[in-house]
Order: sequence, then C-alpha cells, then structure tokens
Amino acid sequence: MTDVLIIGGGVAGIEAALKTADNGIHVHLVEREPSIGGRMSQLDKTFPTNDCSMCILSPKMVDVVRHPLITVYTCSEVTDVTGEKGNFIATIRKNPRYIDEDICNGCGDCIEICPVEVYNRYDAGMGIRKAIYKPHPQAVPDIVVKDEEHCIECGLCYDVCGLNAIKKEDTPRVITIHASAIILATGYQVFNPETRPALNYKTHPDVITGIELERLINASGPTKGIIKCPSSGKEPENIAFIQCVGSRNMAIGRPYCSCVCCMAAIKNSILIREKHPETSLTIFYIDIRTYGKGYEEYYNRAISLGVKFIRGLPSEVTIGREGLTIVAENTENGEIITMHPDLVVLSAGMEPSGTTFRMAEMLGIDIDLNGFVAVKNEALDPVATSIPGIYVAGTATAPKDIPDCVAFAGAAALRAVTDARKVS
Ligand SMILES: Cc1cc2nc3c(=O)[nH]c(=O)nc-3n(C[C@H](O)[C@H](O)[C@H](O)COP(=O)(O)OP(=O)(O)OC[C@H]3O[C@@H](n4cnc5c(N)ncnc54)[C@H](O)[C@@H]3O)c2cc1C
Repeated sequence: MTDVLIIGGGVAGIEAALKTADNGIHVHLVEREPSIGGRMSQLDKTFPTNDCSMCILSPKMVDVVRHPLITVYTCSEVTDVTGEKGNFIATIRKNPRYIDEDICNGCGDCIEICPVEVYNRYDAGMGIRKAIYKPHPQAVPDIVVKDEEHCIECGLCYDVCGLNAIKKEDTPRVITIHASAIILATGYQVFNPETRPALNYKTHPDVITGIELERLINASGPTKGIIKCPSSGKEPENIAFIQCVGSRNMAIGRPYCSCVCCMAAIKNSILIREKHPETSLTIFYIDIRTYGKGYEEYYNRAISLGVKFIRGLPSEVTIGREGLTIVAENTENGEIITMHPDLVVLSAGMEPSGTTFRMAEMLGIDIDLNGFVAVKNEALDPVATSIPGIYVAGTATAPKDIPDCVAFAGAAALRAVTDARKVS
C-alpha cells in the first residue's frame, strides 16, 4: 500500500505526479476532463519570460503518460474515499469516453468526417469543435472522445475508423485503489463576470475575459492567433483591460487578490503591442501587483512599449451608438476619462472551483473563508490539510501563478512520498 492518489491533472497535479513517481512511488492521477493539462494548456505564453505555455507543459504531459509508475485516469472522478493516512481506499468512476482507449491512435479521421459542430469549452467559447473531438491538438492521452449529448449517430465515424475504436455503447467503470496519501490539485475556476451585469459581458460580444483573449492570441486558437473583435471579425485598434473583475471586491464576497491578473494583462498587452505596435492598449487598475522575480521589469517593459496604465476602475461598460463606452476617474490626477474601445478585456479573477468544494466535503478537509482548501499553517505547513495524509497543491488552496503551483506541488509530493515510504 505505497501508492499515492492525485486528484486533478493541471500543472500542479502533473508536477506532483512526476515528483512522486520519480521517487519510486506508484501514482494514480485522476482527471475529470478527457486530457490532462488544466488551465495552463489554454494559455498562449507565460509571464515573465513569454515562454510558449504548451511548449513547456506538453513534454511534462507526455512524461506523465509514459511514466511506468503513473496510471492516468481521464474522464474520471473520485467518488468516495475512506480510511486514513497510510491506508486510504478510493473509488474512481471512469466516465464513458465511447472510445476504446487501447485501440484509438488519435489519427483524427473521425473528427474530420463528423458533421456536428458545437461550442468548444477548451477555446473558452471562442471556437467550435466536433461531436467527436480532441480537446486540443496536443491532448494527452492523444485520443478522441465522443460527446454523447451532441452526437447524432449518423454513423460516419464508425465507417471511417479502420480500427473499430469507436463504441456505440459505453458505461461508467468503477475502480477501487489503495493509497497511503492523497494530493488534491483540483485548481480554480474563472470568476463569471455575468454576475456583474453592468459590465455587459455576454450581452456584447466584444466584452471578453482574459482566458478568452488567451485563446484569441494563441496560434492554435479559434482565430489562428489573429485578434479579432467577435462582433465584426475586425482587428481591434483600441483595447481596454479592466482589472480586478471578481477580485478585491468586498461587495461580491471576493476580498482577495487573484495574484495573476495584473501580470496576465501586462503579458497580453506586451504580446499584442509587439505584434501590432499601432494598437492602443490601456489597462485600468486599482494598483499594479508585480511581486515576483522579473515581474517589475516586465511591467516596465510594457510601459516602454507604450501600454497606458490608468489608476481607476470603470464600474460599467455601456453599449451605445458609438459602440462600447467606458468612463473612469484617473485617481492619480482626478481626470475623467471616456473611451470607446473596440475590445474590452475583463481580467476575471480566480475563484475556488465548485468541484474543489465537493472534494473537500468528501475528504472531510476544512475550507477557508474564501472557499479555497484551508491549510494547517500558512507560514510553516502550507501543503498539509486538516486531515493527516491529505495534501493540497496549486490553486485549489489559493490563487497562484505557475511557478508557485510547481513549487507547492513539489512540497506536497515530498510529504506524500514520506507517508508512502513509512508504510512500505
Ligand atoms: C487569463 C489568465 C492568464 C494566466 N497567465 C499566466 C501566466 O502567464 N503565467 C503564470 O504563471 N500563470 C498564469 N495564470 C495562472 C495559471 O493558469 C495557474 O497558476 C495554473 O494554471 C493553475 O494550475 P492548477 O494545476 O492549480 O489548476 P488547473 O489548471 O485549474 O488544473 C486543475 C485540474 O484539475 C481538474 N479537476 C478539477 N476538479 C476535478 C475533480 N473533481 N476530479 C478530477 N479532476 C478535477 C481540472 O479539470 C484541471 O485539469 C493565468 C491565469 C489566467 C486566468
């Protein structure tokens, strides 16, 4: 009973899995989506180095599936956990993929022939996918999944698949595993700006979130990396970012800072400005938080590229004859600024995901006042939860950037390895 169970296959879960398995401990990595990778796989570049996000994540994703000591369960969730440190018993439900995972080679012929097009959640609503699909070209495992809800059973995919890998019928499978320790890495969800109707998110197509912008900028995204206003398809000449949407706002029960939004807005404005020096970019903020190594220098680079920073948040985005209008007071000099941007990017913050809450309830671990997983001691024991043998990594415990997720994942892995070694 020396195995370790990791729930969530984002960058934190991936790092924890690799670190644990590299220490000779068998890992069960459970991911509810058809591919591991989490949010990082949706990003274009990462601050402050502008590394291509998938170029640095993808090799790790592949290392995970190839690792002899890691068993990956995609389309899966943990439905029950009993026992205690050293001897947990977990029930995993593997949801139907309608594909024989051992046979499918990911060739994509079935995707090509499928006539059904639906909204692609991976592209944050900015693109489409087929009813039989891969979430994205670098999905791991590199196999397709059939979306039973939208499939019209036209039969074309069965005909084209020379390997007979596509199943007409499929049912959930239940797997029981034993583990000495558990690492919860279920991540975050993005704050939904629809809950602030004055911002007109979803009412006007040119009001988008930071994650949607990441997909637009991405060369493998729905517009092949060309930033287009969703309403007209035209390239925007004037883009405004509104910071702290869903963060640092007591009125909506979100008092905390989401950590990454300042840097993400700076990153994306640098990327746009470098490609399109003529585009006007303005970031409206409460204050700019660039606390990490190289982050302040990155901010200064944006300023030197001509990105405008205005201290003051517009409280609404209005729709009129002149298009979108935002009004804000520059709190540094009292000037009232009125602007008609072609595209408004809401820097929507991180919030605890509903699934993290459900997992915490199932595992019996405490959550904090903001709904993230509580840790035993923020200063000295930041990966231990209230239950011995259960650890937490990444943004399940608080908003974090990728370097912090990776560091905390390593710490959680070390604790889990230590527990596993004690029982072996
Ligand atoms: C617009 C934007 C831009 C950003 N840009 C950067 C950047 O440039 N640099 C940077 O450092 N950070 C950036 N970040 C932050 C970055 O996205 C996070 O730090 C990182 O992705 C968090 O990783 P994670 O593994 O904690 O969570 P996630 O990526 O959310 O992964 C969690 C995984 O757990 C899975 N899961 C959830 N619940 C369950 C369950 N019940 N069972 C099984 N699996 C489950 C999910 O499907 C997911 O795969 C950005 C964030 C945003 C919003």
